[in-house]
Amino acid sequence: MTPRTALTIAGSDSGGGAGIQADLRTFFAHGVHGLVALTAVTVQNSLGVQGFTEIPADVVTAQIKAVASDMGVNAAKTGMLATAEIIRAVAKTLDEVEVGPFVVDPVAASMTGDPLLREDALEAIRTELFPRATLITPNLDEVRLLTGVQVVDAASQRAAAEALLEFGSRWVLVKGGHMQGTAECVDLLSDGREYLELTGPRYETENTHGGGDTLASAITASLAKGASVPDAVAAGKKFIERCVAEGYPLGAGVGPVSPFW
Ligand code: PLP
Repeated sequence: MTPRTALTIAGSDSGGGAGIQADLRTFFAHGVHGLVALTAVTVQNSLGVQGFTEIPADVVTAQIKAVASDMGVNAAKTGMLATAEIIRAVAKTLDEVEVGPFVVDPVAASMTGDPLLREDALEAIRTELFPRATLITPNLDEVRLLTGVQVVDAASQRAAAEALLEFGSRWVLVKGGHMQGTAECVDLLSDGREYLELTGPRYETENTHGGGDTLASAITASLAKGASVPDAVAAGKKFIERCVAEGYPLGAGVGPVSPFW
């Protein structure tokens, strides 16, 4: 039987922990056929991102159109988009083809602090992609870059959600994983009417590379199978908790979250 399909519009991680490599194995783990529009090739290992080369914007567009016109896309997500030109091309293409629920993970930098986006591109994510998104999934560093709000507690997390919804997405998930000094990991999901707190354990681990990508693609896979946004996010959180709990050391720096369980 033909499985559901999910499209990742994202970059390659030569270290195999994040990017399209994480997305494809997460789709696979959910029984969903993964489709790819590659945006950039990064040169990286566990110590950081040494550099990247972007794919020409018209080639990104052509990849999306090729798979959408022939195979059909049941849900899509973006990861590393690299440049404002690619972001504008993706936005325009999404007006022309049907991709179902659309998740935007506003990737700006790696957890090692290396940029994954050229400087002028953040504004394009806000204005071109957020209004088209079913769900956006920023971490706290991305929240600060996008809104100026520094999340330190539940009240500022809610203020951040409200500020982000102003950009026009249907839902926002403000991920609390990077909040300091909390025993639990609380994410806030909102559509401006409902404010749903999702609480889970915080694991003491260094090996979290690829965690954001894995969560966004787990959510996208569930959306491709027809789940509601709250159900897809709740299932995605359970999935990423297992991946983080079993993250493993690899190389001298930050190891990946684990797909083996
Ligand atoms: N490399 C690529 C291609 C990515 O898409 C991402 C995150 O989206 C990263 C690296 C950074 O991953 P992390 O912040 O988990 O280290």
